[in-house]
Amino acid sequence: MEKQSFAILGGGVLGMTLAYRLAGAGHRVTIFEAASELGGLASAWKLNGISWDRHYHVTLLSDSHLRDLLDTLKLDSEMKWVETRTGFYMGGKLYSMSNSVEFLKFPPLSLIGKFRLGATIAYASRVKDWKRLESIPVEDWLTRLSGKSVFEKMWRPLLRAKLGENYQHASAAFIWAIIARMYAARRSGLKKEMFGYLPGGYGRFFDRFGELLRSQGVEIHLNSTARLVSPNDDGSLKVELTSGEIRDFDQVIMTLPSSVACDLCPAISENERNKLKSIRYQGIICASVLLKNPLAGYYVTNLIDSWVPFTAVIEMSALVDREQFGGHCLVYLPKYVDPTDAMFEQSDEQIRETFVSALEKMYPAFARSDVLAFQVSRVRRVLAISTLNYSENLPTMKTSVPGVHIINSAHISNGTLNVNETIQLANIASAQLLKNRTTPAPRQT
Ligand SMILES: Cc1cc2nc3c(=O)[nH]c(=O)nc-3n(C[C@H](O)[C@H](O)[C@H](O)COP(=O)(O)OP(=O)(O)OC[C@H]3O[C@@H](n4cnc5c(N)ncnc54)[C@H](O)[C@@H]3O)c2cc1C
Repeated sequence: MEKQSFAILGGGVLGMTLAYRLAGAGHRVTIFEAASELGGLASAWKLNGISWDRHYHVTLLSDSHLRDLLDTLKLDSEMKWVETRTGFYMGGKLYSMSNSVEFLKFPPLSLIGKFRLGATIAYASRVKDWKRLESIPVEDWLTRLSGKSVFEKMWRPLLRAKLGENYQHASAAFIWAIIARMYAARRSGLKKEMFGYLPGGYGRFFDRFGELLRSQGVEIHLNSTARLVSPNDDGSLKVELTSGEIRDFDQVIMTLPSSVACDLCPAISENERNKLKSIRYQGIICASVLLKNPLAGYYVTNLIDSWVPFTAVIEMSALVDREQFGGHCLVYLPKYVDPTDAMFEQSDEQIRETFVSALEKMYPAFARSDVLAFQVSRVRRVLAISTLNYSENLPTMKTSVPGVHIINSAHISNGTLNVNETIQLANIASAQLLKNRTTPAPRQT
């Protein structure tokens, strides 16, 4: 393939990894990123002067693609690996569910229920033919394996926590992918899974990655929002920014959510546009809360009680050394919502009042005077939902407009949204681009 110029729209981990691979093969690469920093969903922000991830992030020992990149950036040796605990909040009580003994003691489920739940997870972790699961609604599959009672008590609340009412559209492949990720460590021969973080958070990762890209000659433009991608008469492609600046390229890769990407490129065929627009996304409202004291010490607390206004409690400081947070505790309160949810219109103050009142009810030792800072991130399109027969309907990464590619996390068709699988997607997609082949959406192993 002759050396070409590529524009990459989006400077998240996907756009940056694509840039790294393409520039490594000698192409001229320019990244346009709308935000003022690199990193997208994994980028850092400041909370009371403390710089940490805007959304909670954890790395698994088995995240081999991410760890290879961390190694390239000379950061893997700095990773801290920790065993964490998991909690469940159910019937107004908090339970630890961090090992098999605690699982067996877990009061809300009968012995048979626990057995069926455990058997479902063990079975799912062994399923290899995930495509078969794409045609089965997740509710049907889990009810058949775990029974109605366990589905109602455990699975439905957990599915709702991630997908809201959209869980009704999801296939069994959605939950299979989550379980497969949980069990990846064991599959790869490690005895147990540990959670890891990089001191300094993802902000440090992106600073170092940005330096590497610049040293490869990649042009990085921050605060640069693309508004139009269109073909020129000579076959090259025009990228127009909201600032009015126009640049020409041989190829353009959009790493933005599918419906946003196709709006930027009116030349995309109608058939393809319909497919891109039909991909359903789930959004997130995620509060970062800096506290004087810990809540309960679980990295994740799964919430079964439906009155709680957020969908999990993530105590980052149960994983990350509190020194990273100036001696304080960092807690995330995420709420996964439909992109049209009315909560997107609420102010930080309204959300703060609702969320902090719930913490008061849940944790008797918590006082609102413990809250040092409260900041809300809102993203309407985060996660493409694995609907029925998802991979069959997924548009190819090469679009109907020559030279224009839409490559985004919706192409992770048999996985979950995480940095490791995003890097894997970028590695597969860039290899295909470098071979200059037209291939359908990649199938990860
Ligand atoms: C709440 C939450 C928790 C998570 N937890 C974990 C975890 O524990 N572990 C893990 O591995 N992963 C986790 N993830 C997933 C991880 O953050 C994503 O997989 C990854 O960041 C996706 O990267 P991306 O480049 O595909 O997309 P994005 O990060 O969304 O990048 C797209 C970029 O495009 C930019 N953009 C949008 N429109 C334009 C435009 N018109 N012009 C130019 N630029 C534009 C955006 O600003 C953005 O930077 C989590 C995500 C969330 C939201």
